[in-house]
Amino acid sequence: MDDLIDLRSDTVTRPTPEMRRAMAEAEVGDDVLGDDPTVNELQEMSASLLGKEAALFVPSGSMGNQVCLGALAPPGSEVLCHDRAHFLHFEGGAAAAHLGLMMRTLPGHGAVISHDQVRAAVRPGSEHTPRTAVVAIENTHNSAGGSVFPLEEARAVAEVCRERGVPVHLDGARLFNAQAATGVPAREWAACADSLSFCFSKGLGAPIGSMVCSTAEIVSDAHRLRKRLGGGMRQAGVIAAAARVALETGVERLVEDHANARRLAEGLADLHPDCVDLAGVETNMVYVDLQPFSKSAVELRDLLREHGVLTLAFPGATSVRLVTHRDVSNEDTERALEVLKRVL
Ligand SMILES: *Cc1c(COP(=O)(O)O)cnc(C)c1O
Repeated sequence: MDDLIDLRSDTVTRPTPEMRRAMAEAEVGDDVLGDDPTVNELQEMSASLLGKEAALFVPSGSMGNQVCLGALAPPGSEVLCHDRAHFLHFEGGAAAAHLGLMMRTLPGHGAVISHDQVRAAVRPGSEHTPRTAVVAIENTHNSAGGSVFPLEEARAVAEVCRERGVPVHLDGARLFNAQAATGVPAREWAACADSLSFCFSKGLGAPIGSMVCSTAEIVSDAHRLRKRLGGGMRQAGVIAAAARVALETGVERLVEDHANARRLAEGLADLHPDCVDLAGVETNMVYVDLQPFSKSAVELRDLLREHGVLTLAFPGATSVRLVTHRDVSNEDTERALEVLKRVL
């Protein structure tokens, strides 16, 4: 396993020795009863970092999105979102199954759904239509190549939503990648949103966990929903301790992942200028478009695997996703690029 270069996702990192030590030594209590000091500290730290009143530790980003959407929107109301939003495609239909929410999609441009699109789509309010209860944005945007939702546009969306009285949810699974890519503090995007969730288990490198941040009132509703979904955890300080190390040591390091992704993208662009959108590679993801080559995504994935490089390809896809992370070094990046060039 260890000489494989795993570019499938930034979720594949394993806990560092420092995380394992923190886990072993964590002070814990029953978090369902509110007495896990390590969880409580991480929640306070996160809320303060993102400039929010309160925070709630949840097992996954998917649950983070669900408890926020559920806290903001009653069943039968609609969520306006990007047509490639993560929660629309990759969370098992949770918002429909568990929350009774309707998703109304807007065609995304890169990471963005624009304030003009949002303004045109928010329903004016009538007994005949569903109520537009949430506008959701995603930053960085997974299916849009890990690209950043520009802060100015996020502010404009927030402004339209404020005028119309519709709350904004930010799926910030990789929000700190946006900070690392732009130098804009994560809290600036957080300020555009009523609720947000971010993941410790992506680029930050923790084994488990996400955080929801919002007002005390919304977090209290989210807390009830977490319980309903079975996400109340007992001595969760064991995982919160690793998440804390991830937050303290993982954010600044993300620039290295971004540099490695850029290296991969530039190397591939040398091979064929049409196989990557260089301008779209802003963070730690590279989508390789296979149309210039006579290979399917699954064929390429299998060939790369024979050479020790793991990638993610969905059946029928015309692109392969490469993701850099803490366990991919500069040397690994060069080696992966050599393999890609050879195989393509
Ligand atoms: C990974 C991801 C999630 C969900 O996180 P899980 O912990 O895998 O449930 C949500 N949103 C985005 C944008 C993601 O990339």
